[in-house]
Amino acid sequence: MTRTLDDPVTTLAGVGPAIAKRLADGLDIHTVRDLLEHYPRRYHDAGEVLDLHDVVEGEPATLLGEVIDWSTRRTARRGRRRPMDVSTATVRQASGATLTVTFFHQAWRVKQLPVGTVAAFSGKVSRFRGALQLAGPDVQMLGRVDTGLDAASAQQRLQHQRLLAVYPAVDRLASFKIAELIAQALEDVAIVDWLGDDVRAEHDLIDLATAFRDIHLPADAAVARRARRRLVFDELFTLQLGVQARRAQLEADAVGLDNAPSADGWPTQFLASLPFTPTGAQRRAIDEIAGDLAAPRPMHRLLQGDVGSGKTLVALWAMLAAVDAGRQAALMVPTEVLAEQHFRTVTHLLAPLGVNVLDGVRVELLTSSTSATDRRRVLGELLAGSVHIVIGTHALLEEGVRFADLGVAVIDEQHRFGVGQRVRLKEKADAVADAVPDVLVMTATPIPRSLAMTLYGDLDVTVLDELPPGRQPVTTQLITPAERSRRDALYEFVRAQAREGHRAYVVCPFVTPSEAIAGTAAVAEYERLAGEVFDDLDVELVHGQMRPDAKDRAMQRFRAGDAQVLVSTTVIEVGVDVPEATVMIIEDAERFGISQLHQLRGRVGRGTDRSFCVLFAGWRGELTDDAQRRLEAVCATTDGFVLAETDLDIRGSGQLFGARQSGTPDLKLTSLRRDGDVIERTRALARDVVAADPQLAARQTWRAEVTRRFAGLEAFAALETG
Ligand code: ADP
Ligand code: MG
Repeated sequence: MTRTLDDPVTTLAGVGPAIAKRLADGLDIHTVRDLLEHYPRRYHDAGEVLDLHDVVEGEPATLLGEVIDWSTRRTARRGRRRPMDVSTATVRQASGATLTVTFFHQAWRVKQLPVGTVAAFSGKVSRFRGALQLAGPDVQMLGRVDTGLDAASAQQRLQHQRLLAVYPAVDRLASFKIAELIAQALEDVAIVDWLGDDVRAEHDLIDLATAFRDIHLPADAAVARRARRRLVFDELFTLQLGVQARRAQLEADAVGLDNAPSADGWPTQFLASLPFTPTGAQRRAIDEIAGDLAAPRPMHRLLQGDVGSGKTLVALWAMLAAVDAGRQAALMVPTEVLAEQHFRTVTHLLAPLGVNVLDGVRVELLTSSTSATDRRRVLGELLAGSVHIVIGTHALLEEGVRFADLGVAVIDEQHRFGVGQRVRLKEKADAVADAVPDVLVMTATPIPRSLAMTLYGDLDVTVLDELPPGRQPVTTQLITPAERSRRDALYEFVRAQAREGHRAYVVCPFVTPSEAIAGTAAVAEYERLAGEVFDDLDVELVHGQMRPDAKDRAMQRFRAGDAQVLVSTTVIEVGVDVPEATVMIIEDAERFGISQLHQLRGRVGRGTDRSFCVLFAGWRGELTDDAQRRLEAVCATTDGFVLAETDLDIRGSGQLFGARQSGTPDLKLTSLRRDGDVIERTRALARDVVAADPQLAARQTWRAEVTRRFAGLEAFAALETG
């Protein structure tokens, strides 16, 4: 029987309901394709497999065989030396020779390698009581005799193929078992190459079936690399085709609005009335947006700028342009705290122009805690067109929110939303008008340009690469339990800062104590700081489980300086802007990722005063290596781009930016860091292809492949329809 990639894994011998369930639950593997796309995490170089009488005492060697017996014992206590668990396996090689393999303090090996297991053992050969043995070797399991593998055939295989794929394994499903299933699947699966000989030849790519075989069973490292290159090309090329096609469709159907502001209208007056001068980067962004607003096609622009770079001003300028053109604007943000803040900032900045007064700009706030009466009123006025700018949370997406004439939609902290929500906000306008509003999405997530171009391939990108003048880099320090006394010194420092009119945040990973995970709880920390440490200061608390009005009151007291210390959870992670805050204290900092720490630190250093960020870490147990690296990276630089790169390094790219969230398929193999050249190449190719043939009508296999990969992703209808 020949299998196809879409057949279920249960068509493989040995995959009964139990294994199928483990594959599905643990690894999300359902079809043969899922299995073959479960790529090796690395390769184990088995080296040359030797026969026992070829080995040289004292030299490293790999010996292969079947475990035929186990014995375990415990050494006697000798003087001060503690007794030792010794587990010894007898292993029979294909030649019939037997050797002993010894493990110290690894009693679990007996369960891991039961009698009947075929495995390769690599280590140094020594002589013990006259016999050759391997002590404490590396072990690579190859299979079991009862499922048809014997030492001789395993040895034969390793002679051709020294590199053994090592797979991300799950509980009760070892890497070798996965390898076995993959080898079986590769034997008789029919793989149709969707790409076509012309593109393959042009880009020097091997065929798909070979690529799948060689990534799993490579003869050597060069072969594995070649296979990887083809598979990465497929991931990136289909991704680029998909986003380009999506964009082409948006533009084909869409009639844009002319939102170009008049020469001396609101936007111009606004810039003139600011208490500061816009930075060069802000001016450039405004120019680019002005061009988009005037163009007949709708704007889809990503404004990317590090924390504190002043994105709000640019957004407000664009929104005023819509108002100037006689239309409305919406600003959507991920949290209520941020919606409240933006509402205040906007009304404050627009005050010189007249806001919420006769002949002024009408601005309203709409969140899920807006009272029913206010909500009814705001909805009515939005539909009537008398509200010019609405600022809100997801509540803006709800049924019943309709605009008279939405000209510009801005989405702040876009990484917190999905692409679906971006599209939905825009559709709010489609309901009443035929034209599509201009959309500006903003993010502080410092993503490398190659990544932005890939994940947001359907957006134009503007970068705010300049901070307002006078900013000083934030000094960051790590405090571990070894320096316990520095905690008190720090609190004394907070007091001194407060005396100078400054403020401090204390961020905790949890709201209330959790039984499952150790970590500082905000509520308890608030009680401790307010009651015992800072009895001379005012301390406030905010977290997500508080009632919205209480949250707002606490934020307001902190903003106004009535409270000098704010204890919180990560609700203040994004967007919060209190320029007087100069100290950021993060408890259990190892619980946060690099970008979160960077965002949190971005809450200070927003004025011209020197600011400090203190990371408490390791107080709840040893730091892992990764945690250590993350914390060191954050201490070493405040450059968001450098941190993003480090984050990519530590975590690998696939999972990092939540590809699903951006409406694109997962990248299973691609490293956005290493595969930059393929990103560029596939992007250029996809752009040319889609420009000539937006529906991929002449390339049905491409169309099918892209549709398959984007299947089930919200907001991807470009090729599914039409
Ligand atoms: P973000 O890009 O993180 O959203 P904000 O828009 O909140 O940044 O701006 C951060 C702070 O910088 C705000 O207090 C804002 O008033 C101030 N700011 C913005 N632009 C300028 C500028 N050109 N000069 C001085 N301060 C500015
Ligand atoms: Mg912001």
